[in-house]
Amino acid sequence: MALDSEQIERLLESQCAEWPLAARNFDALRSVELREVAMPGWTLKVQFNPARIVSSGAKVDARSLAERPCFLCEANRPAEQRGIEWEGYTVLVNPFPIFPRHFTIPALEHTPQRIAGRMAHMLRLAMALKGYTVFYNGPRCGASAPDHMHFQAGNTDFLTLPAALEGAAMQVVAAEPDGTTLRVAAELPLKVFVVDSADAEAGARMFDRLYAALPMPDTGEEPMLNLLAYATAGGVRLVVVPRKRHRPSFYGTEGPGAMLLSPASVDMGGAFITPRAEDFGRIDEALLRRVFDELCLNDVEIKNIAENVR
Ligand SMILES: [Zn+2]
Repeated sequence: MALDSEQIERLLESQCAEWPLAARNFDALRSVELREVAMPGWTLKVQFNPARIVSSGAKVDARSLAERPCFLCEANRPAEQRGIEWEGYTVLVNPFPIFPRHFTIPALEHTPQRIAGRMAHMLRLAMALKGYTVFYNGPRCGASAPDHMHFQAGNTDFLTLPAALEGAAMQVVAAEPDGTTLRVAAELPLKVFVVDSADAEAGARMFDRLYAALPMPDTGEEPMLNLLAYATAGGVRLVVVPRKRHRPSFYGTEGPGAMLLSPASVDMGGAFITPRAEDFGRIDEALLRRVFDELCLNDVEIKNIAENVR
Protein backbone atom coordinates (compact mmCIF):
# COMPACT_ATOMS: atom_id res chain seq x y z
CA MET A 1 0.00 0.00 0.00
CA ALA A 2 1.25 3.49 -0.80
CA LEU A 3 2.04 5.67 2.16
CA ASP A 4 1.99 9.45 2.33
CA SER A 5 2.29 12.32 4.78
CA GLU A 6 -1.44 13.02 4.90
CA GLN A 7 -2.19 9.48 6.03
CA ILE A 8 0.16 9.65 8.98
CA GLU A 9 -1.09 13.12 9.90
CA ARG A 10 -4.64 11.75 10.02
CA LEU A 11 -3.35 8.97 12.29
CA LEU A 12 -1.79 11.54 14.63
CA GLU A 13 -5.00 13.51 14.75
CA SER A 14 -7.17 10.51 15.57
CA GLN A 15 -4.69 9.09 18.11
CA CYS A 16 -4.65 12.42 19.97
CA ALA A 17 -8.45 12.27 20.06
CA GLU A 18 -8.61 8.74 21.52
CA TRP A 19 -5.40 8.31 23.53
CA PRO A 20 -5.06 10.64 26.56
CA LEU A 21 -1.31 10.01 27.06
CA ALA A 22 -0.50 11.01 23.48
CA ALA A 23 -2.85 14.00 23.60
CA ARG A 24 -1.30 15.21 26.85
CA ASN A 25 2.29 14.86 25.64
CA PHE A 26 1.72 16.45 22.21
CA ASP A 27 -0.14 19.24 23.98
CA ALA A 28 2.67 19.77 26.50
CA LEU A 29 5.14 20.01 23.62
CA ARG A 30 3.51 23.26 22.52
CA SER A 31 4.69 24.99 25.67
CA VAL A 32 8.17 23.47 26.09
CA GLU A 33 11.04 25.94 26.24
CA LEU A 34 13.39 26.33 23.28
CA ARG A 35 16.68 28.19 23.01
CA GLU A 36 19.06 28.72 20.14
CA VAL A 37 22.82 28.19 20.19
CA ALA A 38 24.75 29.62 17.23
CA MET A 39 27.83 27.86 15.89
CA PRO A 40 29.78 28.71 12.73
CA GLY A 41 27.56 27.86 9.75
CA TRP A 42 24.87 26.26 11.89
CA THR A 43 22.41 27.41 14.55
CA LEU A 44 21.12 24.63 16.82
CA LYS A 45 18.01 24.46 18.97
CA VAL A 46 17.91 23.29 22.57
CA GLN A 47 14.61 21.87 23.83
CA PHE A 48 13.75 21.43 27.52
CA ASN A 49 11.47 18.38 27.39
CA PRO A 50 10.77 16.73 30.79
CA ALA A 51 8.70 13.88 29.25
CA ARG A 52 11.82 12.63 27.43
CA ILE A 53 13.36 11.45 30.70
CA VAL A 54 12.05 8.00 29.70
CA SER A 55 14.40 8.00 26.72
CA SER A 56 17.41 10.04 27.91
CA GLY A 57 17.51 8.05 31.15
CA ALA A 58 16.75 4.69 29.50
CA LYS A 59 18.78 1.69 30.59
CA VAL A 60 19.87 -0.08 27.42
CA ASP A 61 22.15 -2.78 28.82
CA ALA A 62 21.30 -6.36 27.87
CA ARG A 63 19.95 -7.30 31.29
CA SER A 64 17.62 -4.29 31.59
CA LEU A 65 16.32 -5.01 28.09
CA ALA A 66 15.70 -8.68 28.84
CA GLU A 67 13.72 -7.76 31.95
CA ARG A 68 11.28 -5.34 30.36
CA PRO A 69 8.46 -6.12 27.91
CA CYS A 70 9.40 -4.67 24.51
CA PHE A 71 7.24 -1.60 23.95
CA LEU A 72 7.59 -1.87 20.17
CA CYS A 73 6.13 -5.40 19.95
CA GLU A 74 2.47 -5.35 19.03
CA ALA A 75 1.51 -7.60 21.96
CA ASN A 76 2.87 -5.11 24.52
CA ARG A 77 1.62 -1.86 23.04
CA PRO A 78 -0.93 0.30 24.88
CA ALA A 79 -4.51 -0.65 24.00
CA GLU A 80 -5.11 2.79 22.45
CA GLN A 81 -2.13 2.65 20.09
CA ARG A 82 -3.03 2.01 16.45
CA GLY A 83 -0.76 1.90 13.44
CA ILE A 84 -0.56 1.95 9.65
CA GLU A 85 1.16 -1.07 8.15
CA TRP A 86 3.73 -0.48 5.41
CA GLU A 87 5.89 -3.22 3.87
CA GLY A 88 6.98 -5.08 6.99
CA TYR A 89 6.79 -2.05 9.29
CA THR A 90 4.07 -0.25 11.26
CA VAL A 91 3.85 3.54 11.48
CA LEU A 92 2.90 4.50 15.05
CA VAL A 93 2.44 7.82 16.81
CA ASN A 94 5.32 8.36 19.28
CA PRO A 95 3.60 9.09 22.61
CA PHE A 96 6.75 10.80 23.98
CA PRO A 97 7.31 13.30 21.16
CA ILE A 98 10.17 15.66 20.43
CA PHE A 99 8.71 16.86 17.12
CA PRO A 100 5.25 18.49 16.78
CA ARG A 101 4.58 15.49 14.48
CA HIS A 102 6.57 12.48 15.65
CA PHE A 103 6.23 8.83 14.63
CA THR A 104 7.95 5.55 15.48
CA ILE A 105 8.17 2.95 12.70
CA PRO A 106 9.04 -0.50 14.10
CA ALA A 107 9.55 -3.63 12.02
CA LEU A 108 6.72 -6.14 12.47
CA GLU A 109 9.09 -8.71 13.98
CA HIS A 110 11.09 -8.39 17.18
CA THR A 111 14.54 -8.32 15.60
CA PRO A 112 17.66 -6.35 16.65
CA GLN A 113 18.27 -2.76 15.59
CA ARG A 114 20.48 -3.09 12.47
CA ILE A 115 20.53 -0.96 9.33
CA ALA A 116 22.24 -3.54 7.07
CA GLY A 117 19.83 -4.57 4.32
CA ARG A 118 17.25 -1.93 5.31
CA MET A 119 18.60 1.31 3.84
CA ALA A 120 16.38 1.09 0.75
CA HIS A 121 13.36 0.85 3.10
CA MET A 122 14.54 3.94 4.97
CA LEU A 123 15.02 5.98 1.79
CA ARG A 124 11.69 4.84 0.32
CA LEU A 125 9.96 5.92 3.54
CA ALA A 126 11.69 9.31 3.35
CA MET A 127 10.56 9.75 -0.27
CA ALA A 128 6.99 8.76 0.60
CA LEU A 129 6.74 11.00 3.67
CA LYS A 130 7.34 14.41 2.10
CA GLY A 131 8.12 17.09 4.68
CA TYR A 132 9.42 14.49 7.14
CA THR A 133 12.87 13.32 8.10
CA VAL A 134 13.13 9.58 8.67
CA PHE A 135 15.86 8.78 11.16
CA TYR A 136 17.68 5.81 12.63
CA ASN A 137 19.69 5.52 15.84
CA GLY A 138 22.23 2.72 16.01
CA PRO A 139 21.92 0.22 18.89
CA ARG A 140 24.57 2.11 20.88
CA CYS A 141 23.88 5.55 19.49
CA GLY A 142 20.66 6.58 21.18
CA ALA A 143 18.13 3.85 20.34
CA SER A 144 16.06 3.22 23.46
CA ALA A 145 14.88 -0.14 22.04
CA PRO A 146 18.09 -1.58 20.52
CA ASP A 147 16.46 -5.02 20.60
CA HIS A 148 13.65 -4.11 18.19
CA MET A 149 14.40 -2.67 14.73
CA HIS A 150 12.75 0.71 14.22
CA PHE A 151 12.95 3.98 12.37
CA GLN A 152 11.39 7.25 13.50
CA ALA A 153 10.03 10.21 11.56
CA GLY A 154 9.47 13.85 12.45
CA ASN A 155 8.62 17.03 10.54
CA THR A 156 11.85 18.25 8.90
CA ASP A 157 11.31 21.95 9.63
CA PHE A 158 11.99 21.23 13.31
CA LEU A 159 15.60 20.28 12.51
CA THR A 160 18.30 22.78 11.61
CA LEU A 161 20.97 20.58 9.99
CA PRO A 162 19.14 20.23 6.63
CA ALA A 163 19.20 24.01 6.08
CA ALA A 164 22.82 24.29 7.29
CA LEU A 165 23.83 21.64 4.73
CA GLU A 166 22.32 23.76 1.94
CA GLY A 167 25.02 26.34 2.49
CA ALA A 168 27.82 24.00 3.56
CA ALA A 169 30.96 23.26 1.55
CA MET A 170 31.10 19.59 0.55
CA GLN A 171 33.83 17.48 -1.04
CA VAL A 172 32.97 14.60 -3.35
CA VAL A 173 34.05 11.18 -2.03
CA ALA A 174 32.39 9.02 -4.70
CA ALA A 175 30.07 9.55 -7.64
CA GLU A 176 28.10 7.19 -9.91
CA PRO A 177 27.26 7.78 -13.59
CA ASP A 178 23.55 8.00 -12.63
CA GLY A 179 24.30 11.16 -10.59
CA THR A 180 24.34 9.51 -7.16
CA THR A 181 26.98 11.14 -4.97
CA LEU A 182 28.67 10.57 -1.64
CA ARG A 183 30.12 13.79 -0.22
CA VAL A 184 31.56 14.92 3.07
CA ALA A 185 30.67 18.16 4.85
CA ALA A 186 33.85 18.58 6.87
CA GLU A 187 33.64 22.26 7.73
CA LEU A 188 30.58 22.15 9.96
CA PRO A 189 31.14 21.69 13.73
CA LEU A 190 29.73 18.17 13.18
CA LYS A 191 31.40 16.12 10.42
CA VAL A 192 28.90 14.20 8.30
CA PHE A 193 28.65 12.24 5.07
CA VAL A 194 25.87 13.13 2.63
CA VAL A 195 24.43 10.76 0.00
CA ASP A 196 22.24 12.28 -2.72
CA SER A 197 20.39 10.08 -5.17
CA ALA A 198 17.39 10.11 -7.47
CA ASP A 199 15.97 6.88 -6.05
CA ALA A 200 16.13 4.76 -2.92
CA GLU A 201 17.96 1.78 -4.44
CA ALA A 202 20.82 3.90 -5.84
CA GLY A 203 21.15 5.73 -2.53
CA ALA A 204 21.21 2.43 -0.64
CA ARG A 205 23.99 1.08 -2.91
CA MET A 206 26.09 4.18 -2.21
CA PHE A 207 25.39 3.86 1.52
CA ASP A 208 26.63 0.24 1.39
CA ARG A 209 29.99 1.46 0.01
CA LEU A 210 30.32 3.94 2.88
CA TYR A 211 29.11 1.38 5.46
CA ALA A 212 31.89 -1.02 4.42
CA ALA A 213 34.47 1.72 5.11
CA LEU A 214 33.16 2.65 8.57
CA PRO A 215 34.99 1.28 11.63
CA MET A 216 33.30 -1.79 13.18
CA PRO A 217 33.25 -1.73 17.01
CA ASP A 218 34.36 -4.74 19.09
CA THR A 219 30.72 -5.73 19.66
CA GLY A 220 30.56 -6.56 15.94
CA GLU A 221 26.99 -5.23 15.87
CA GLU A 222 27.38 -2.49 13.30
CA PRO A 223 29.42 0.69 12.80
CA MET A 224 28.27 3.33 15.29
CA LEU A 225 26.05 5.85 13.53
CA ASN A 226 23.02 8.11 13.38
CA LEU A 227 21.15 8.47 10.10
CA LEU A 228 18.73 11.09 8.80
CA ALA A 229 16.96 10.95 5.41
CA TYR A 230 14.56 13.29 3.68
CA ALA A 231 13.11 13.86 0.22
CA THR A 232 14.71 16.54 -1.97
CA ALA A 233 13.72 18.15 -5.27
CA GLY A 234 15.97 15.65 -7.07
CA GLY A 235 15.17 12.54 -5.04
CA VAL A 236 16.40 11.78 -1.55
CA ARG A 237 19.23 12.88 0.75
CA LEU A 238 20.79 10.70 3.44
CA VAL A 239 22.96 12.24 6.16
CA VAL A 240 25.32 9.79 7.88
CA VAL A 241 26.76 10.80 11.27
CA PRO A 242 29.53 8.34 12.22
CA ARG A 243 29.96 8.01 15.99
CA LYS A 244 32.63 6.70 18.35
CA ARG A 245 30.83 6.88 21.68
CA HIS A 246 27.29 6.37 23.02
CA ARG A 247 26.98 9.00 25.76
CA PRO A 248 29.27 11.86 26.85
CA SER A 249 31.81 11.30 29.66
CA PHE A 250 29.78 13.68 31.85
CA TYR A 251 26.50 11.78 31.30
CA GLY A 252 24.62 11.29 34.57
CA THR A 253 22.53 12.90 37.26
CA GLU A 254 25.02 13.24 40.11
CA GLY A 255 28.30 15.03 40.68
CA PRO A 256 29.65 18.33 39.41
CA GLY A 257 29.23 18.83 35.68
CA ALA A 258 26.97 15.79 35.23
CA MET A 259 24.26 16.27 32.60
CA LEU A 260 21.47 14.05 31.35
CA LEU A 261 22.34 14.29 27.67
CA SER A 262 21.99 11.21 25.48
CA PRO A 263 22.42 12.59 21.96
CA ALA A 264 20.93 10.73 19.03
CA SER A 265 19.87 11.55 15.45
CA VAL A 266 17.57 14.42 16.43
CA ASP A 267 20.32 16.13 18.44
CA MET A 268 22.79 15.59 15.59
CA GLY A 269 20.11 17.02 13.28
CA GLY A 270 20.29 20.29 15.18
CA ALA A 271 17.78 19.94 18.03
CA PHE A 272 19.38 19.07 21.37
CA ILE A 273 16.95 17.60 23.86
CA THR A 274 17.35 17.80 27.60
CA PRO A 275 14.82 16.49 30.11
CA ARG A 276 16.27 18.43 33.10
CA ALA A 277 15.83 22.16 33.78
CA GLU A 278 19.31 22.47 35.31
CA ASP A 279 20.92 21.18 32.11
CA PHE A 280 18.81 23.31 29.76
CA GLY A 281 20.46 26.61 30.64
CA ARG A 282 23.98 25.16 30.60
CA ILE A 283 24.07 24.11 26.97
CA ASP A 284 26.22 26.57 25.02
CA GLU A 285 28.59 26.46 22.06
CA ALA A 286 31.51 25.16 24.13
CA LEU A 287 29.43 22.32 25.52
CA LEU A 288 28.10 21.33 22.08
CA ARG A 289 31.66 21.27 20.75
CA ARG A 290 32.64 18.99 23.62
CA VAL A 291 29.72 16.67 22.82
CA PHE A 292 30.66 16.50 19.12
CA ASP A 293 34.35 15.96 20.02
CA GLU A 294 33.58 13.12 22.41
CA LEU A 295 30.84 11.34 20.44
CA CYS A 296 31.59 12.02 16.79
CA LEU A 297 34.57 11.83 14.46
CA ASN A 298 37.14 14.53 13.75
CA ASP A 299 38.51 15.73 10.39
CA VAL A 300 41.30 13.16 10.28
CA GLU A 301 39.02 10.22 11.17
CA ILE A 302 36.46 11.30 8.56
CA LYS A 303 39.19 11.68 5.92
CA ASN A 304 40.51 8.19 6.66
CA ILE A 305 37.04 6.71 6.16
CA ALA A 306 36.57 8.65 2.91
CA GLU A 307 39.87 7.23 1.62
CA ASN A 308 38.66 3.70 2.33
CA VAL A 309 35.44 3.98 0.32
CA ARG A 310 35.67 1.53 -2.60
ZN1 LIG B 1 9.88 -5.99 20.25
